[in-house]
Amino acid sequence: MRIILLGPPGSGKGTQAQLLVQRYGIVQLSTGEMLRAAVAAGTPVGLKAKEIMASGALVPDEVVVGIISDRIDQPDARNGFILDGFPRTVPQAEALDELLKHKHLKLDAVIELRVNESALLNRVETRVAQMRERGEEVRLDDTPEVLTKRLANYRNQTEPLIHYYSERRKLSTIDGMMAIDEVTRAIHRQLLALGAVEPKTHAKSAAKAGPAKKAKASKTARKTAQKPAKTTKKPAKSAKKAAKTAVRGPKKTAKKAGKKAAGKTVKKATKKAAQKTAKKAVKKGARKAAKKVTKKRAKR
Ligand code: AMP
Repeated sequence: MRIILLGPPGSGKGTQAQLLVQRYGIVQLSTGEMLRAAVAAGTPVGLKAKEIMASGALVPDEVVVGIISDRIDQPDARNGFILDGFPRTVPQAEALDELLKHKHLKLDAVIELRVNESALLNRVETRVAQMRERGEEVRLDDTPEVLTKRLANYRNQTEPLIHYYSERRKLSTIDGMMAIDEVTRAIHRQLLALGAVEPKTHAKSAAKAGPAKKAKASKTARKTAQKPAKTTKKPAKSAKKAAKTAVRGPKKTAKKAGKKAAGKTVKKATKKAAQKTAKKAVKKGARKAAKKVTKKRAKR
């Protein structure tokens, strides 16, 4: 799975990226983190980026595109990745499209975390205060002044990506103001709906779960249908039935089941009624016959 997390600084991209990493076993590729590591290591890229980052401006596109291209080629990114903080400009997005095409890789989704800007400043101030309390080092660009500049950069240079990806039908927007776990759940649901993650269910329960899982369910069922029978006597038939059910979807199946059940009930009721009538008739007949006999005896 390959996804992009889009959102202004402080929207929770980093937090969500880490949670997604744990959940799906993919890697987080954060250009901000990579640049900070380069600055700390004093590499040529780091030396170039240091001042720019401290001022809250953006590092040149070719620098970050080069970093990302190399990182995607690492073996640990083969299973999938989350791009956090990249792309940040339309030229970066275009460059990413090109390099993914070149590497024969597909982008599954772009998740935008939409947040209320005025709440962001509060969030960052709280985060900085908490980090100071814990004695942790605070980022140079985590001050309210630099954040204001980073937010302006986001609006001018990164927000056009919302249009870029929505035009390409890749964009999903999620309310980033919800609690952390709610945001994670919303992302997961979205990824499921897009078919970017595997629902770990078999055909039957997948069919119950709805249209997003239906395609997968039918695939599983089709596979089962192709498998040779092992234990049951009529496996091919039942597998076919499972495939049909999965393709048909939960609604129809439920309707059919309902109809069947109703039909059964009617049949049962009719049978019961007929039995009762028959019993009654027999009883009545017997009573009549008994009366006749009594009358005859009385006459005699
Ligand atoms: P972040 O940790 O994503 O907020 O990034 C911190 C800083 O690194 C940004 O303010 C930029 O100066 C720089 N940076 C990170 N990613 C990019 C990018 N994709 N393009 C340009 N500059 C970036």
